[in-house]
Order: sequence, then structure tokens, then C-alpha cells
Amino acid sequence: MLLQGKKIAIVGGGPGGLTLARLLQMKGLDVSVYERDLNRQVRVQGATLDLHYESGLKALRQANLLDLFKEVYRPGADRIRVTDEHGIVYFDQHAQHYLTDFDDPWFRPEIDRGPLRELLLDSLEPGTVVWDSNFEGLYKHEDKWVLNFKNGSSAEADFVIAADGANSKIRPLITDQKPFYSGITVVEGNIYHADDNAPVLAKLLNGGKIFAFGDSKTIILSSKGDGSISFYTGFSIEETKDLGIDVTDHLQMLQWFKKEYDHWDPVWYELFVHPATIFTVRPLYCMPLNQIWTGRSDLTMLGDAAHLMPPYAGEGVNMAMLDALELSEVLTGGIFTETLSAIQYFENQMLERSAQIAEITLDNTSWMHSPDGLKKILELFAPDKS
Ligand SMILES: Cc1cc2nc3c(=O)[nH]c(=O)nc-3n(C[C@H](O)[C@H](O)[C@H](O)COP(=O)(O)OP(=O)(O)OC[C@H]3O[C@@H](n4cnc5c(N)ncnc54)[C@H](O)[C@@H]3O)c2cc1C
Repeated sequence: MLLQGKKIAIVGGGPGGLTLARLLQMKGLDVSVYERDLNRQVRVQGATLDLHYESGLKALRQANLLDLFKEVYRPGADRIRVTDEHGIVYFDQHAQHYLTDFDDPWFRPEIDRGPLRELLLDSLEPGTVVWDSNFEGLYKHEDKWVLNFKNGSSAEADFVIAADGANSKIRPLITDQKPFYSGITVVEGNIYHADDNAPVLAKLLNGGKIFAFGDSKTIILSSKGDGSISFYTGFSIEETKDLGIDVTDHLQMLQWFKKEYDHWDPVWYELFVHPATIFTVRPLYCMPLNQIWTGRSDLTMLGDAAHLMPPYAGEGVNMAMLDALELSEVLTGGIFTETLSAIQYFENQMLERSAQIAEITLDNTSWMHSPDGLKKILELFAPDKS
């Protein structure tokens, strides 16, 4: 088998990197994951994730983790309500038949990022993840890679996989293509104890998701298993991380929201009134759709590092996990006799698939933030069989 007896370094312990580590370890390969988080107790923020039959769930199935997933996913959390800017519900999956069949390709079970990370971490051999390893650079010494980390430590490997996400530090070593700005920025936040701190929205969420559209803007909310609500507002703005206000001050954020979302109902103010909420301003980027690069036999990348895209098709985690599955297959499936052609085959497939998904994603990003956003999402959900 390719890479037998070789040392494999995965940089980044997100869904892509951890899924890959699990799949390679199942074949007996020597894998370490270098993750910048200080330890596994670090709270994983962000929206909940629905895993798809043909990608995220497929990878879990191959990793022998589907049964464990069934114990920790959140039945019903994938139910969506679509509202306008006044919070009026136009489409409600709570009122529909609910799928729970893992063999049905339309079933997209929801899991929080924290439990997904726990599930993957628990599947790895002890010591696989080297925490507090904030990757800074790598160079070749004789025939080995030497990886350097911010804390002064270093590691050696024969084969390196970049799974270090949107701002990958390894990506520039593989391609000189850079992400471009999508035109949409989000303000992300998480409200803990939502029943107390955002009671009206918590009730409207009803344990599921809300997609709200109005005035060419969006807000997407997810209820999480720890009783919190995560949300992100999407709006058009010139590329900047600076809204001209102090984002650590919720009162300034509330004023900003009232101005930016001036046609929106006060019901949404609940997102900005709790002093403990931490807001992150995130301009959304996308890697070019026509990427090509020269494959290497000892270095590759997957997930957001390779094909970052905005979140408006809910595919990022699913693509990262499918990349992991496909990379593990070319490396361990016995089809390829040398690593270079295995990697080139993997990368070509990944780039072709992710370009198709990114095209859909960019299209969604555009119409969702147009005056027709609500109308179009309702058309999209109309033939939904659920
Ligand atoms: C607001 C928002 C909502 C989203 N909603 C969805 C959704 O509903 N469904 C979906 O499928 N996708 C969604 N996504 C996209 C999804 O989060 C990503 O596509 C996915 O997490 C990519 O997985 P990954 O493993 O490639 O990278 P990541 O999840 O970003 O993981 C990268 C890992 O690398 C680590 N890391 C980073 N830099 C370094 C370094 N220098 N050294 C060491 N470690 C490092 C990070 O700490 C992290 O653990 C959303 C994204 C955003 C911004």
C-alpha cells in the first residue's frame, strides 16, 4: 500500500482533517494531526451542519462511524422555517412529514460542530492529535518535510495534507491562486441560554433552523444542542472586516443592525441585545472555479484549504469529508502504484466536483441576497418531498 511505513502529517483538525486521519488509521497508516486549538476542550463555535447522504454521511459510513453518529445527531434540528424580514413564516418543515431514514438520500441529519468533532476525535488512536500546533511553515530537509509551529516545536513527515481551512497557510505552497471576495459579508454570533436571552426567536426556531429573507439581506439561525442559537446575517458590502464600530460592544452592534437592516422587524433585535454575545465579521470568499495546479507526490490539500466557498449551499463540511474519503481511497485502495498519480487523480476529481458545487453556491449567494430572495427560496422548497 502507498505510504506504508511513511509518516503522514495532517495540518488542521477540522471535519476534513479528522475524517482523513480516521480513514487512514483504519488502514494501519501512521498519521498525526497538528491542530492549532490548545486542547480538545476548546468550544467549537459556528452554525450547525446537515450531513448529506452522498458526501458527509458517505464518509462517516466508510469510517464505520454512522452508528455512533446516530446516537449524537439532533433529530428534528434540520427542520427549516422560512420567514420574511418581519418574522412571518412562509414555509414550515415542522408542519410536514419528517424523514428519519438514513437510507433516504433526502434525509440530511443535523449535528453541532462540537459533537461532530468529538465523534471523530474519539475514533482516533490516542495521541493522534497534537494540540497547540499552530502551523507556521514547512521546508524540505533531505527527503522529509519539516513542519514548524508557533510554539517553537517542529515535526517531521514524509507526506503532508493541508486541512487547515479557509486561511490555509499551506495553500500558497501548492497554488498561487487566491480566494476572491463573494460580495457578501456575514456577522456571526452565538447566544447562549437562548430561552432566556432570545426567547421570541428561540420559540420561532422551535429547535430547528430559520432562513429569513428581506430587502436583499438574509439571517440564518440554528438552534444548538447546548441551548444556544447560532446565527449569521448576510448582506452586500465592499470588502472589509471593519464595520466602523466596536464589534465587542453589543449596543453598537444593535445600532449597526438597526441601520443596516432598517426594514427588518424589531423581533430580530434579540440577536444583538445580550452583552455576552461575541460577534465575528466574516467577509465570505471563494476559491476560483477554474483552479489547476501541478500535483506533487508528497503534499496536497482538501476541504476549505483547497476550495473555500460561501456557506449558501451547506456543502463545505460535506465536501471536506468527501475529499477525505476520496483521498483515503486513492492512497489505500490498491489502484495506484505510485503516490504522484494517486494525488493527481484525487486533485482532479476534487477540483472538478468542488467547482460544480461552488458554481451552485455562488448562484445561491447571489439570488439569496437579491430582492427576489424570499420568492426564490419558496420556489426551491416547493417540490421538497419531505
Ligand atoms: C457562517 C458559516 C456557516 C457555514 N455553514 C455551513 C453549513 O451549514 N454546512 C456546511 O457543510 N458547511 C458550512 N460552512 C462551511 C464549513 O464550515 C467549512 O466548509 C468546513 O468547516 C471546512 O472543513 P475543513 O475541515 O476543510 O476546515 P475547517 O473546519 O475550517 O477546519 C480547519 C481546522 O484547521 C485548524 N487550523 C487552521 N489554521 C491552522 C494552523 N495554522 N495550524 C494548525 N491548525 C490550523 C483550525 O483550527 C480548524 O480546526 C459554513 C461556514 C461559515 C463561515
